[in-house]
Amino acid sequence: MTGVSADKDVAVVGAGAAGLAAGRRLVEAGLEVAILEARDRIGGRAWTVEARPGLPVDLGCEWLHCAERNPLVAVARNLGFDVDEHSEFWSTRTSRLRLGQAAYDDIMAALEAFWEKVDACGEEDRDVACSEFFDPESPWHPWLDSAMGRIAGASLAEVSALDQARIKETDLNWRLPAGYGSVIARYGAGLPVALEAPVTGIDWNGPAVALDTPKGRVTARAVVLALPASLIAAEAIAFAPALPPAKLEAAANLPLGSDLKVFLAADGKPFGGQYDMQYSGRFDRTDSGHYLIHPYGRPIVEAYYGGRNAKDLEAAGPAAMLDFAMEELADVFGAEFRGELSLITHSSWMSDPWARGAYSYAKPGWADARATLAEPLDDRLFFAGEATSISDGASCHGAYQSGLDAAEALLARFGQGGKAGMQS
Ligand SMILES: Cc1cc2nc3c(=O)[nH]c(=O)nc-3n(C[C@H](O)[C@H](O)[C@H](O)COP(=O)(O)OP(=O)(O)OC[C@H]3O[C@@H](n4cnc5c(N)ncnc54)[C@H](O)[C@@H]3O)c2cc1C
Repeated sequence: MTGVSADKDVAVVGAGAAGLAAGRRLVEAGLEVAILEARDRIGGRAWTVEARPGLPVDLGCEWLHCAERNPLVAVARNLGFDVDEHSEFWSTRTSRLRLGQAAYDDIMAALEAFWEKVDACGEEDRDVACSEFFDPESPWHPWLDSAMGRIAGASLAEVSALDQARIKETDLNWRLPAGYGSVIARYGAGLPVALEAPVTGIDWNGPAVALDTPKGRVTARAVVLALPASLIAAEAIAFAPALPPAKLEAAANLPLGSDLKVFLAADGKPFGGQYDMQYSGRFDRTDSGHYLIHPYGRPIVEAYYGGRNAKDLEAAGPAAMLDFAMEELADVFGAEFRGELSLITHSSWMSDPWARGAYSYAKPGWADARATLAEPLDDRLFFAGEATSISDGASCHGAYQSGLDAAEALLARFGQGGKAGMQS
């Protein structure tokens, strides 16, 4: 690297949680950094919008999963955000009411047995599909398949059990009333980000790496790639030389699944005055959603769909989303609620050109792909992003930590001396 002439020490591609964490760490180490972002905003899949004035909703990440060890809890508090510690209770209360105690106990026992078998895969290092561990004849199979759609964005048969076992979820999930996306946006404020600067090509033939964007070329001594795996797999950036086949294969086997959020206005809080209430849709079919009713006591309903259900609804559009949600809600609460709800907004991650899906899952046999995707190339191309996280794949805190890890690896390579290290 001696004598390498470049505009910047490091170029970071992507200003999601991973790219911003890498960028901040490298700036703090004294390096000259450029963060190149395709969108007209930072945050990537962490994105809070105002559904109505004063009513923030998260179209992407929302829950501070693994709250007791989630580093973004402290980040949020240090930035002045309130953290809501009412942990979720997914669908327990309403499911128990709807199913009756005996059926509810049965479904919970089946679920526990399923996760025990998945966890055993982790201990045995056995990389098979999650569908191996649930009886397709069980009356609860459609519901679990539907739940896997919301957890991983795909069906039981498509998802690696070993990967799920390695993702160390805990039961503590907190929220951010001002929005997870708002936290990530404030965390990234002030960093040297170039917006609307999609990287189209990366030439790493020479001593400096050259990155092409419609706004011009940036050269850097090293690069942190903090893109969704889907875009690496699709070769959305032309690399010269091309990325090694193992890297492309790893990305292709970590597809981003399908998940959809739909926000409905529920003025007058027709479902009651609870702080919030969660309810699982149907138990007898896979195409069914999960409903968060009056979150924080707000006059909205948030519907969440996964897998094929999400993909179909996103493609079908807002009218179909509203109809589907109404049908499932009417099934429980009665048809009189139909007239009280209207669609405010919804996500569209699957058709988003800079995401091409919701979050990564490993295909059966490919749990090790996350480690392969994370490996640096030529000590100059470093990889970050949720798909590179083994213990926290698919999450925002996993993305954030992966960015810090990539920055540390880069600093270790060039020495902790910041700029001096890069030049030595
Ligand atoms: C519906 C939904 C619900 C979720 N819920 C949760 C949750 O409750 N809790 C949780 O922890 N996580 C959740 N997640 C996952 C979480 O949002 C992501 O794992 C995390 O935000 C990913 O961060 P990242 O930095 O890896 O990727 P991204 O946020 O996707 O950032 C990558 C950035 O790269 C940019 N980019 C792409 N191509 C280029 C290019 N060629 N040049 C320059 N820039 C480019 C993109 O625009 C993007 O800004 C959810 C995600 C979705 C979609």
